[in-house]
Amino acid sequence: MKPVQSELKRWMEQNENFQENYNRVRQEVLGDPEIKEFLAAHPELTRNEVDKSLIKLHEYKTQSKQCDRCKSFGSCVNMLQGYSPILHVEDSEIHLSYEKCHSRLDYERQQSQQKLIKSLYMPKEIMQATIADIDSDPERSDAIRQLVHFVGQVQEKGLPKKGIYFYGPFGVGKTYFLGALANKLKEINISSTLIYMPEFVREIKASFKDDSINDKIDYFKKADVLMLDDIGAELHSAWFRDEILGSILQYRMMEGLPVFFTSNYSMDQLEGHLATTRGGVEEVKAGRIMERIKQVSKEVLISGDNRRDY
Ligand code: ADP
Ligand code: MG
Repeated sequence: MKPVQSELKRWMEQNENFQENYNRVRQEVLGDPEIKEFLAAHPELTRNEVDKSLIKLHEYKTQSKQCDRCKSFGSCVNMLQGYSPILHVEDSEIHLSYEKCHSRLDYERQQSQQKLIKSLYMPKEIMQATIADIDSDPERSDAIRQLVHFVGQVQEKGLPKKGIYFYGPFGVGKTYFLGALANKLKEINISSTLIYMPEFVREIKASFKDDSINDKIDYFKKADVLMLDDIGAELHSAWFRDEILGSILQYRMMEGLPVFFTSNYSMDQLEGHLATTRGGVEEVKAGRIMERIKQVSKEVLISGDNRRDY
């Protein structure tokens, strides 16, 4: 007998608590200014419907609306991160739904922009480079001017046919310039494919195994803006020079698509470098590649101090 009695007593107590809690929550919910406004805008809702929807109304009340209580997408306090609650009435019934909030939309926009830079093997600091961070010491001022001019042209008339061939000593910030430009172009929704030449050669060679070589070459031919980092640092084969690099540059030259380069060599020096492969010295073929490089880019010197601290 005893256990049943105590069970019953507990149940009754709980029930009493429940009733108390319910009344408290009901008052809180119905006293909330936003809920009041919502109910005032929908006089067709019956008391019964409001009571039935109390949990939905309570949920609405506790959530942050359009980021009013969150600093960023990452610190969103809502049950569904990045979604903001909405109350609406359909057939005299209250419905609660969620839509993406401002922060989430911003976040998604940034993510899709990040994807626009198809840098294949770039360090993080290069990925985050900005034109504003390039200090304008006199040794770089011409290079910066050229970079800003290119961006201006893009904004005025779309992509120019020629990119820039940045050359200069090791560590002066040539790759950093490309990263900064890629990030700037990203803001205008232009994607850049940035690749480090030695990796490019490896990548192409590796794709022999899986038959993806033609797709890859096609991708580099057609990228909006192609950026070849450190040309001259790769180990050349005559095949890579003529069949791969040559055909990509040929295509881009014909289509008027810009290419950016960085190199430790000036164009004249690069020509000598390109002529020498394992197979021997082929000046005519190197000359042909150089002609294409000159068609798709303009030579600009970057000098200054070595910024590498190692
Ligand atoms: P390069 O390609 O000419 O050899 P990098 O672009 O790799 O030189 O630059 C060398 C180092 O200096 C890198 O660590 C790079 O992040 C840094 N660096 C270059 N320019 C800047 C800059 N304007 N602000 C901050 N760091 C820079
Ligand atoms: Mg570099």
